[in-house]
Amino acid sequence: MEMNFTNVEFDCIRTRFAPSPTGYLHVGGARTGLFCYLLARRLGGKFLLRIEDTDQARNIESADQKLMDDLRWLGLQWDEGPQTGGPGAPYHQSQRLDIYRAHTRRLLDEGKAYYAFDTSSELDAMRQAAQREKRNFRYPRPASFPSNAQAEAARAAGRPVVVRLKMPDHGFVVKDQILGEVTIGAEELDDFVLVKSDGFPTYHYAVVIDDQHMRVTHVLRGQEHLMNTPRHMALQEALGYRTPVYGHLPIILNMDGSKMSKREKGRVVLAAFEAAVRGGKMDESSALRIAGLSDAEMLAAWRRGDTQLEGGALMRLARSLNVQAPEIEIHDFRVSGYLPEVLVNFIALLGWSAGDDREKFTLEELCTAFSLERIGKTNARFDRAKLLNFNTTAIAAAGAPRRVSALRDYLEVNEPGPLSKLGDAMLARLMEINEGVRVLRDVETKSAALFVRDEEIEYDADAVKQHWLKSDREGLRVLRDVRGALGLLNEWTAATIEPAIRQFAEGAKLGLGKVAQPTRIALTGKTISPSIFASLELLGREKSLGRIDRALRYGEKLQ
Ligand code: GLU
Repeated sequence: MEMNFTNVEFDCIRTRFAPSPTGYLHVGGARTGLFCYLLARRLGGKFLLRIEDTDQARNIESADQKLMDDLRWLGLQWDEGPQTGGPGAPYHQSQRLDIYRAHTRRLLDEGKAYYAFDTSSELDAMRQAAQREKRNFRYPRPASFPSNAQAEAARAAGRPVVVRLKMPDHGFVVKDQILGEVTIGAEELDDFVLVKSDGFPTYHYAVVIDDQHMRVTHVLRGQEHLMNTPRHMALQEALGYRTPVYGHLPIILNMDGSKMSKREKGRVVLAAFEAAVRGGKMDESSALRIAGLSDAEMLAAWRRGDTQLEGGALMRLARSLNVQAPEIEIHDFRVSGYLPEVLVNFIALLGWSAGDDREKFTLEELCTAFSLERIGKTNARFDRAKLLNFNTTAIAAAGAPRRVSALRDYLEVNEPGPLSKLGDAMLARLMEINEGVRVLRDVETKSAALFVRDEEIEYDADAVKQHWLKSDREGLRVLRDVRGALGLLNEWTAATIEPAIRQFAEGAKLGLGKVAQPTRIALTGKTISPSIFASLELLGREKSLGRIDRALRYGEKLQ
């Protein structure tokens, strides 16, 4: 099944994005994927996707599906890879074990790699000895390499059998397209492991074989991989492979200089949870129920800081605690209601710039504007305020069909709520009457109350105090009077409601807010909703008046 591309002339450049399926797509991964995609498009090449799932301990089930969903959502469709197919198939490394095995045999036979049987405690002891003697630990290469029979015997005796590369005794110069030339001396490199004791290849080994066989010409990846590159070059030398062009992308940091990590989400939710527990608003058993967890020990371990909660459970808790965990993974941004085209635009600027002041790009425009030369060396900062600003502007500027499809997508990736079953016409209307939406979640927060049953309206205590009861129940009196004025209307449209309310406010010598807020609370229980005229129109005459009457009955009973 192995394809031999080694001697095939390359007709175009080929980039690849090679995520490990350890969860949803992280912002850093998305940036790598995007840059690989853009480089391929810019230079008329091909963009490949490969799933690096050889670390059995770290793989998470169906994470590859999630990664692919996220990439597609961003619009980064790969030309070759899982589900699409291509000449380098299969594209999951776990399905390529035969290929790696054949190469191991060759390297062993040629004396370029060798078996080693050290246990982890033996390796630890060697490392500690090196530390005591204040020298760098390098695996001590044996004078003669163990034979196949010795490896068999070691395996039979229960020792972990690995295969290590015999490093050449020279250093390497990485000609990085972004960082320039980086020299690594031979003394910094040791005989690293190619094949683990479970028979799976290490990342280094699989990546080098696959990049060759999938004819990858350009490798763009995060700077954390820079020190891996000399190892990869050593392997390429041993296997007689070409060296692809490398570019290591700058690190993405939070504005305060800290690393953007999934753990941040957990920290924010945990702090809110502990505050709720202290305030008597939540306890362990309700938290378990809300999070959908069956294991109390899991929750306890999370509270001790010993473990992370699975993403879904964490988000359910966050929702019920009314806290917004910082979005880190692409899926988080989708769930909050960012537009994919905005994220793509924003992520493109994490380390790359067009060279002028221009900041707004569509994916298509990026495909022409992008170039390796304009990727910077310095760390990129993830400016959330700027992203929010991009999103607000883009939602306001989007045409009706795009707004509807975006809102539909937002609703579909979230748990079902009052807006989930609405038709396109109603979604379009909601986008129209909700002005200044920053993320699509705002539409839901502001309008959900218009679509629940009247009995589900709960009046917010602070809002009631402030807008109904203050100044000797002024708000409730206004509400009763405006109910009277509205009751006289025969035609119930925003065009008739608006002048009626304005006239009423003028007649009563009240600012519009003094009329709108008490009414808004009567209709929705809260102080935020779409414009009051639009809300009344949308609810319809009967429902609006019914809700006001219900509110008046409730208000009368209040002290
Ligand atoms: N699987 C590696 C990662 O997710 C890929 C690194 C590379 O692009 O070589 O970091």
